[in-house]
Amino acid sequence: MDRIDFRSDTVSWPTPAMRAAMAAAPVGDDVYGEDPTVNELEALAAARTGKEAGLFVASGTMGNLCAVLAHAGRGEEAILGADSHVYSWEAGGMAALGGVIPHPLPTDAYGRMDPEAVADAVREDDPHLPRSRLVLVENSYGAKHGYPLPPAYFAEIAAVARQNGLAVHMDGARLFNAAVAQQIDATEITRHVDSVTFCLSKGLCAPVGSVLCGSADFIYRARRARKSLGGGMRQAGVLAAAGLVALNEMIDRLADDHAHARRLAEGLARLPGVGVNGEMVRTNMVFFDLSDDVALSADEVADRLRQSANVWLGTNGRRGFRAVTHCWIGADEVRVFLDALENVLARA
Ligand SMILES: *Cc1c(COP(=O)(O)O)cnc(C)c1O
Repeated sequence: MDRIDFRSDTVSWPTPAMRAAMAAAPVGDDVYGEDPTVNELEALAAARTGKEAGLFVASGTMGNLCAVLAHAGRGEEAILGADSHVYSWEAGGMAALGGVIPHPLPTDAYGRMDPEAVADAVREDDPHLPRSRLVLVENSYGAKHGYPLPPAYFAEIAAVARQNGLAVHMDGARLFNAAVAQQIDATEITRHVDSVTFCLSKGLCAPVGSVLCGSADFIYRARRARKSLGGGMRQAGVLAAAGLVALNEMIDRLADDHAHARRLAEGLARLPGVGVNGEMVRTNMVFFDLSDDVALSADEVADRLRQSANVWLGTNGRRGFRAVTHCWIGADEVRVFLDALENVLARA
């Protein structure tokens, strides 16, 4: 990777082991259920999340949408964080394509909804009202520094959901980052939810794909939803092969990404002109801001970093940034970035 790309972990390239596995993968027609590599990936994903079954999908967005379509119907409601990925960044798919109404609630500094507010949001059974069906949670929480939320929070949400007959789906795009950061098995988290989507294509480095996991009956319904969305793929084993490498080889090393993010945050904290809250850096994301005395905007700083050092960085509003570490970012890349930023700010 010649450019040094901190914009997201989605930019991570497949590893050499993945490319080899893709070339060698046995395949079949997965719409007929005959692709052995896809079947193996779905079974492994189900085992890793402690669920009965898995469904290989094109993206995290498709996994979340299949889950919503399998859990809820038209005119029914899903309670979710107002800054959650599903609500803000998935093109309104649940409403546009499923007729499912999002019911957004505020989240705290870590991305948690107040369980009491969730209970209060559940509608009475009244023909005037939409029917509450589903709670959507997210882990790690992207809009709040990628914070890894603990199992206890999901236990509280699950209790509220159970009392009210709602299902719980987790957008676990970075589920394994959340688990590794807390040094727990992912199933400690997922045992509190009915279904979960996680991305193979982010920190786990696969080129494409996510897996939705849940009960066998739920996955049966989600498979129909995937087909209706045009997501039935044929010899998808060439993609699933990379996913198998991701699950077998790339989870434990997420700890390196987290260490690099911490190192980056420590370096940023020493730079004049930059504000960073190191306490929040627990996974692979570092959010930071320019202080008021810096004359440049975030966009201008990002442009100069790109031009001067081929360092690519995402902005977050007019004064802020998000830097994400991944497999192709090592200690050297962190140092290049810090040096380049120091130079850009010194010349501002
Ligand atoms: C990336 C992401 C998704 C969606 O994944 P895509 O594969 O990009 O569709 C969902 N939720 C969160 C929190 C994400 O970061």
